[in-house]
Amino acid sequence: NAHGQPIYAEATKDAAATKWRPKQTVRAAIVVLARDSDCEGVLRSMARMEQRFNAKFGYPYVFLNNDPFGAGFVNRTSAATSARTLYGVIPPEHWGYPSFVDPKAAAKARMDMHRHRVLYGDRESYHHMCRYYSGFFHLHPLLQEFDYYWRMEPDVHYYCDLDYDPFLYMQEKRIKYGFVITIEELPATIPSLWATTQAFMAAHSSLLPAANLLSFVRAPSGDYNLCHFWSNFELGDVNFFRSEAYRSYFDYLDRTGGFFFERWGDAPVHSLAAAMFLNSTEVHFFQDIGYRHNSYKHCPAEQRNNCDCDALEAVAFHSPSFGVCHRRWRNFLA
Ligand code: GDP
Ligand code: MN
Repeated sequence: NAHGQPIYAEATKDAAATKWRPKQTVRAAIVVLARDSDCEGVLRSMARMEQRFNAKFGYPYVFLNNDPFGAGFVNRTSAATSARTLYGVIPPEHWGYPSFVDPKAAAKARMDMHRHRVLYGDRESYHHMCRYYSGFFHLHPLLQEFDYYWRMEPDVHYYCDLDYDPFLYMQEKRIKYGFVITIEELPATIPSLWATTQAFMAAHSSLLPAANLLSFVRAPSGDYNLCHFWSNFELGDVNFFRSEAYRSYFDYLDRTGGFFFERWGDAPVHSLAAAMFLNSTEVHFFQDIGYRHNSYKHCPAEQRNNCDCDALEAVAFHSPSFGVCHRRWRNFLA
């Protein structure tokens, strides 16, 4: 690749060989997209992940980066767990401008978004990041050996002990997508995402099962109600994202250039895909996983498992505005 380094590597051969490999029934990994500069925050997240869950289960971590990780990042993160740690460089064709998007036009669009104060709209790398999580992470060679992933970001909190294996739970129940927080997307980031999605549905109606989740995301007017699963926390079936249906949806979106001319996030893209292609038994609200990213948190209503959070502060139990998508989800299932 561009950096003359292998696409992926284990931390070091000797260290990896002596690391604990429990008998795992589920082919699953914790997936972290990060830069060297995210190292401190990644270590904080890892410490909580290990303490609350992974010290017992020993799932490997997969770290992905558009640049090669430095030795400091590799050494410190591999020392933070007894599980395997894998480090991958993202192939250049999965990070950067596709042939059908003119970088100059993208730069102009970013200036417009800056003027209109679209959150992160002016940040070039953010567009690449959102497009990567929307279209490509599941194709990385390092993920080939895995069927399930748990997405982790720098500086997130896990508030409760997890005394069961969520990957096994997903596998047994055939769950393809798991979330803890659902909120409304900022409309300024996705002016044409819903219209493009509707055009996709009209052109590919055979890809949509009859028992889908579209009524969770569709307002009575027929517009997108902006509800999405907050994707900085995600438990997912990688094979869902590798599926023909998902990939044709991503390609359809990508061709419009909306990841660059608007600031489409991977969260609404994953959520709309789940709504189109999955049914209500395939998407699961992991109520019992306490979690915080920035100012939004989820905290279980039932205080068990040494939760270190206040359920009254959870998005799910807020009213009227913050909890609206959680209420829609509950009503949708009822
Ligand atoms: P936010 O949660 O929407 O505020 O976005 P973040 O800044 O947390 O980015 C989301 C995830 O992508 C985090 O795991 C970041 O570490 C990672 N990330 C964001 N931008 C880049 C980038 O340019 N390169 C790499 N390698 N990772 C990135
Ligand atoms: Mn984040």
